[in-house]
This record gives sequence, structure tokens and C-alpha cells, in this order.
Amino acid sequence: MHILSGLNLEEIQAVTDELHATPFRARQVHNWIYHKSVSSIDEMTDLSLKFREELKKIAIVSDVKIKVKQESVDGTLKYLIEYPDGECVETVLMRFDNRANLTACVSSQVGCAVNCSFCATGKRGFIRNLTYKEIIEQVLTIQRDTGLKVTNVVFMGQGEPLLNLDNVIKAMHILNDNFQIGARRITVSTSGIVPQIYKLADIDMQSTLAISLHAPNHEVRRKLMRIEDKYNMSELKKALKSYIEKTGRRITVEYLMIKDLNDTVDSAKELAVYLKDLKCNINLIPYNPTAENDYQRPSNNSIMKFKYLLEHSGKKVTVRLERGADIDAACGQLKGKV
Ligand code: SAH
Ligand code: SF4
Repeated sequence: MHILSGLNLEEIQAVTDELHATPFRARQVHNWIYHKSVSSIDEMTDLSLKFREELKKIAIVSDVKIKVKQESVDGTLKYLIEYPDGECVETVLMRFDNRANLTACVSSQVGCAVNCSFCATGKRGFIRNLTYKEIIEQVLTIQRDTGLKVTNVVFMGQGEPLLNLDNVIKAMHILNDNFQIGARRITVSTSGIVPQIYKLADIDMQSTLAISLHAPNHEVRRKLMRIEDKYNMSELKKALKSYIEKTGRRITVEYLMIKDLNDTVDSAKELAVYLKDLKCNINLIPYNPTAENDYQRPSNNSIMKFKYLLEHSGKKVTVRLERGADIDAACGQLKGKV
């Protein structure tokens, strides 16, 4: 059986060729999959009944299931998607008031090997990589279920995208070519896999790189992220500089704020020095509680003070709006469980 989701036009044509159909049929099917986001071949109503019956004998639209769907009071939707082997990942749709953007937060792996101390996903360990089709299915699941078109994609769900780079890049190409989601509307977030940052710089994609820094220095970072012992902040900085130079693009620095750990005035000043010569915007992420540790969210007052100090250093700083915390859909709360 062919699975139509995740196929490009040529691949869909190879399927319709088996039925000796014209190339136009393939274009119609492609449109139904990516733009009208149907769930079944029966819904492809501009194809003749006969052709639909024939197509149904050799193809299905998708082989994933929505296992659980939750809606937050703020409108955020979280889906637990089940793949045929029984593994599940979350995908989250964020809707922001007064903005036409619909942002899908997708997972790139089941679980994650990086195991950062603050993150629920990492606590599960690494289960497996997702294929590019499985990544694409997450966006299509959202579109099928809501009837809306996703406009932005962030790789900030489960997993470390740079440890599954080939599939992530293929998925980005499909988002570009088949969904018409421009690369500038795609963000890849990484814990800092240095060799892969160099690799990403070599690829001609206009996507945004977001780097989970979370600390002003080596000592604090290694308490939070074991990856710091493998690729430390000075190697990371070299890689980021080279990335910025090579691509000409500004990166996003994500900074998770944890009470009394990295939210102090001294931390802000030290961070400003580290970031001084990096072309970046800063995104502060107040810590979202997970069951597995006893970190705390800083007060709004210390978040604002921290923001002010960084802005004073000349950077653009935003505080990430917390979305979907009531349904455990916020950053770091995804663990692939019912
Ligand atoms: N593995 C990638 C992408 C997924 S995590 C990465 O780490 O960048 C997406 C973002 O959520 C990262 O910046 C991550 O550090 C952050 N995050 C993880 N746990 C969190 C928590 N408990 N509260 C807030 N943000 C968290
Ligand atoms: Fe993995 Fe990112 Fe979670 Fe760290 S924060 S454990 S890299 S998903």
C-alpha cells in the first residue's frame, strides 16, 4: 500500500502511473493532500468515482492516528500522534491572537538522547528517529483535523533535530516545495550539536537557527545540560559565528530562566558579554514545571529586569509566551505519554 502523505509530486505521479492516469491526476491528488488536507481518498471529489476506487486499492492517505487531542484554555491544541509501530509523539498547534500565523511545533525524534535536566522529553531517553514522512504527517494531521493551513513550523517538540538532520532537512524541503511554507517561517532549535551546526550552515536553507543556550557560562550550563561536556560554550560560539558569517542570517538564542540558578543580574551581564559579538535575537523562556525536578520559575520581576539588562546591551529580547501549560503542551513538557 502506498502512503500518499509526505510524497512529492513526482512520487505521487509514480503511484498514479500504476493506474495509467494522466499527470493532471497526480497534481489533483497532490493538491488534495497538501492544500485541502483530506483524510481519505473518498474526499477527493474532483476525481472520478472509478478512479478513486482504483486508487483506494493501492494507496491510502495516511497511516497515523490521533491518539489524544487536547485543547488549552488559550486555544493551543496538542495532539498525541501514533505511528504504525505504536510509538507516539506530540505535535502542538499554537494560535496567537491578532496574528494570522498558525505555528506547528513538531517533534523530530521519539524521546531524546541529550537528556537536559529540565526537560521531560529527555527523561525518557532516546527511542528512535522519526522519518521525514513522519515529521510531515504531524503538520498534515493538524491541517486535516482543523481544516486550517499551517503557516510556520518550529522544530521544538520532542527530540534533538540536529541528531536527525537528514530527515529534518528532507522535511524542510517538503514544507517548502509542497506546503509552500517559506524557509524563513521554519525554525530549527538545537541544544548545540556543534559539528551539525557547521553542516547546517553549508546547506542553502533560509530557515532560522535557534540555539538553546540557557546559561551565561560553562559551569552553570553543565549543571543544566550534559551536552556542555561534549560541546562547550566556546566551541559552540565558534560554530555559531561561522554559521552567521556563512549564512548572513541572524540566529535566535533561547535562554531558559530558572529561579536563582541563571536569572540573576550577574547572569544577565555575563550573558551579554558572551553574546556581544553574535548577531542574534534573544528569546527568554520562563521555566515550565515538569514532574521530574524541583526547579522553579523566576518571578516576573526578575524576568523583566533580566530582559532590561540584555536590551541595554543592544539586543532585541522577547519573552516567550507560555502556551498550553494546562495541557502540558508547553516547552519541555512533552513526553509522548497519554
Ligand atoms: N532539542 C531541541 C528542541 C526541542 S526543546 C532543543 O533543546 O533546543 C525546545 C525548547 O524548549 C528548548 O529551548 C528547550 O530547552 C526548552 N525547554 C525544555 N524544557 C523546558 C521546560 N521545562 N520549560 C521551558 N522550556 C523548556
Ligand atoms: Fe532533548 Fe531539547 Fe529536551 Fe534537551 S531540551 S532533552 S535537547 S528535547
